[in-house]
Amino acid sequence: MGSYSQVEHTRIEDIGFRIYTEDEIRHISLVEVTNDESFNELGHIIPSGLYDLRMGPVPGRTKDICQTCGKTNLRCQGHCGHIELPLPVYNPFFYNVLNKTLRGICCNCHRIQVRAHHVLLLKYQMQLLDAGYGYEALELENILSRSISSPMEATEVAVGIDDKELSQKDAGIVADLMNLKKTLSKYCDKVIRGGTCSPETSTSIIKNLETEVVKSFIKKCYYSDKKRCIFCHQSIVRLTLQNSRFIRSGVNKKEKDKDKDKDKDKDGQTEEVEAEREEREEEGGKWRREI
Ligand SMILES: [Zn+2]
Ligand SMILES: [Zn+2]
Repeated sequence: MGSYSQVEHTRIEDIGFRIYTEDEIRHISLVEVTNDESFNELGHIIPSGLYDLRMGPVPGRTKDICQTCGKTNLRCQGHCGHIELPLPVYNPFFYNVLNKTLRGICCNCHRIQVRAHHVLLLKYQMQLLDAGYGYEALELENILSRSISSPMEATEVAVGIDDKELSQKDAGIVADLMNLKKTLSKYCDKVIRGGTCSPETSTSIIKNLETEVVKSFIKKCYYSDKKRCIFCHQSIVRLTLQNSRFIRSGVNKKEKDKDKDKDKDKDGQTEEVEAEREEREEEGGKWRREI
């Protein structure tokens, strides 16, 4: 007896999830929602509103018919609509990733807090992983550690700055980085075009490696212990996520202090009012006793 998993096209090896691009959303959308009113005074659905019937009938309104598939709300599976936003906004699903990324960027010079040789490593590792070479992508780390003798020196310059006048020391570092770039690029070309090794057949292994490589990169630029930017040496401003907004931690602290002061004032006032009330009650008691 055979089983379904033995049939090639029924065996699932990998499932990936991603979000739609703007163009894909527009392409699958049947309605552009432009009206902020959903129902008129008689309870009828307003076209191009949130309940436009081209997206399907509203649950509970059994008499409404979907204007796209012609079915009632029991049978219609619903159809997509979209709203064009006037400004770019953060996708709430990615707040955590954004938060981590923003914490790795200097608010003064806007540069990501990671050394140039790590950027090169990530670039070529991803190139190899895209082509399906997992082991070879990891091997790049060994090549890097063999090629760069003093990685701490290569912190202040970025790869590709060749129109800027460089000091002798910086010029040396740039030359080292260019050599490193050549070495890594040569290795990638040899692996991908050389045909001496074959790509990984399991996509899940490659996907896991991709996640690990990106995680490790983010960890390198996540400057929890750094007080100053490695490029412009200005103090690092921390960002925190509050009520769906990224706020500078320092500013927030000042605001909190202000709030505390306000609370103190309020407490002071309350205490004064309380004292006055107690005094009046005491006097009233005295007056009643005197009578
Ligand atoms: Zn429908
Ligand atoms: Zn900076």
